[in-house]
Amino acid sequence: MLGRKQLVQRVLKVPPLQAAARIAGAARGRGMALLYHQVLPEPRPGSITPTISVDQFEAEIAYLASVGQIVPLETLHHPSPSTRPRFAITLDDDYKSHAEHVLPVLQRHNVPATFFLSGRWLHGLGAYWWEKLEDAIAARGLDEVCLALGVPAGTADELAIRLERDLAAQSRVEELCDFAGGSISEDWFKPLFESGMGIGFHTLHHPRLTLLDDEGLEQALSLGLAELAETMAARPFLFAYPHGRAGRREASAVQDAGFTAAFTTSKDPVGADSDRYLVGRWEPGASTLRDFAAELAWRLHAPIQPISAN
Ligand SMILES: [Zn+2]
Repeated sequence: MLGRKQLVQRVLKVPPLQAAARIAGAARGRGMALLYHQVLPEPRPGSITPTISVDQFEAEIAYLASVGQIVPLETLHHPSPSTRPRFAITLDDDYKSHAEHVLPVLQRHNVPATFFLSGRWLHGLGAYWWEKLEDAIAARGLDEVCLALGVPAGTADELAIRLERDLAAQSRVEELCDFAGGSISEDWFKPLFESGMGIGFHTLHHPRLTLLDDEGLEQALSLGLAELAETMAARPFLFAYPHGRAGRREASAVQDAGFTAAFTTSKDPVGADSDRYLVGRWEPGASTLRDFAAELAWRLHAPIQPISAN
């Protein structure tokens, strides 16, 4: 395996990457929170869950550390004397790959990250509905699953997007299929807690908060939090909105629930003026390092805008 210096030297031999690195490096006073989900040795093609390879993740971490500074998420918006842009790494959901594949890369490069967890294993809950959906589609085919759920869709992604807005149909997914790999083990997360990496809260049942009434919203922000806090021996103070969706009402509720910052998926860069309860995050997804570098450079210079609920 290449070390960080060798990896970056190899990458920067490519002229478009040199240009992208210069543009990104000039984004003084700007920061970017990056979002990842599953990081696997061999990403599953066609999976609903955003998945990238360990090699891609490692190359992106090395690149970010070469053009800027990777800092703890809670300090991303702090004024910095550094002339280089700042980055924070975040990972969402209760996935085995966090400790198995992500943590070793972070430790190898000596950089911090924050994991937004639901703590589902503390409640005997298994896989999320979209993992069960993937399993059901693999076992029974898309058409049959659409018929069983009463939700028409041309692709698995389209079905997942429709279900994200339909809490009743999400619960029907549970009845569709016994998810063989659905159990979540406490052992998957122990190394994260012991590593000193940041842990934030992501809600137990992962509903899109903008679909909930005020009472449901308040409940979602507390259900499962105490159990996760007990396991961590500390209360999580950072929050990531399920499905990244939030507006002013959700931001106020998260603040009232005692969190100190909350994160969307608005893809906006972060500055000193960013709303601390609607901080954007960008998920690069599967791509080449060249495309990643170009998009990063462009996004770092984009205006910072609050998003509206939808
Ligand atoms: Zn999530």
